[in-house]
Amino acid sequence: MPARVLNGNEIAADLREEVATGVADLVASGGPTPGLAAVLVGNDPASGVYVRNKGRACEEAGIFSEIFYMPAHVSQANLLSLIDQLNQDTRFHGILVQLPLPGHIDEATVIERVNPVKDVDGLHPISQGRMLQGEPAFLPCTPSGVQQVLLRSGYDPAGQHVVIVGRSNIVGKPLAALLMQRSAGGNATVTVCHTRTRDLPEITRQADILVAAMGVPGAISADMVRDGAVVIDVGINRVDDATRRRGYRLVGDVDYEAVAAKAEAITPVPGGIGPMTIAVLLSNTLEAARRSVDANR
Ligand code: NDP
Repeated sequence: MPARVLNGNEIAADLREEVATGVADLVASGGPTPGLAAVLVGNDPASGVYVRNKGRACEEAGIFSEIFYMPAHVSQANLLSLIDQLNQDTRFHGILVQLPLPGHIDEATVIERVNPVKDVDGLHPISQGRMLQGEPAFLPCTPSGVQQVLLRSGYDPAGQHVVIVGRSNIVGKPLAALLMQRSAGGNATVTVCHTRTRDLPEITRQADILVAAMGVPGAISADMVRDGAVVIDVGINRVDDATRRRGYRLVGDVDYEAVAAKAEAITPVPGGIGPMTIAVLLSNTLEAARRSVDANR
């Protein structure tokens, strides 16, 4: 039987709807309109699309948002000073710095400059440290999006062997921390793989839930997946395609057709984890606005 397709667009729409209701309730109770500042450095086309999509999703949920454009050659000092300004600006409860940044800018320094109370991307070391220790924190958007897709599709990770391929600070590592927590939505047994992993297929075949976050088109082939596994494809890769008007198409890290033939469930690309990432960003921005009310009481 072909796999059940986990439709990230639909699940994300549900979550965005919940956020819109939460925003309306907050404003009706005299709270602030949640605000998100998005910082876009340079003119990478993919980053531009992501930031504009985030802006549009904010608008639909009743969240105020503004994009701050900086040229690719901006100095690190000027970028940091913009972030200082946004940290002070009470219109914004969340700050998002679209990654990747140009090579001359140190991403870690920029991420650490965002005030952790506005860190709606969940990438600040304080957010990640709190999450690791099981304390309340803004959850990083993509890992949280993966968790939400699993939970909202009826695949509780508790007790499951989750194999994650990829150990980046924005996806693989925080996802492992999230799914292993001793709390609802966690309790998985997690294995994290990377380029130095010996015999990757041997390990991925042991997964009840397999998460690919590698950035390598089609790298997870059918022989790497156990019959009946749940497969989450985080990868978003552009591959040349002369038949498309744009000259490329988006594919994930999973060989979709072949893997879908033996998996229990699978997320497509596009329309899987991508929209979830945006929905969690909105949810975190609403949460930041709520916390600002509590902090001012
Ligand atoms: P990184 O390049 O930072 O990390 C990739 C990870 O995959 C690394 O840990 C790397 O190992 C590992 N890896 C790469 N190739 C292999 C291989 N052949 N075998 C085993 N491990 C491998 O990428 P990101 O985590 O930032 O992103 C991963 C993918 O997810 C990309 O396609 C990206 O576009 C997508 N993405 C999607 C998002 C969404 O909203 N859906 C959000 C963020 C990212 P090592 O550490 O040893 O180098």
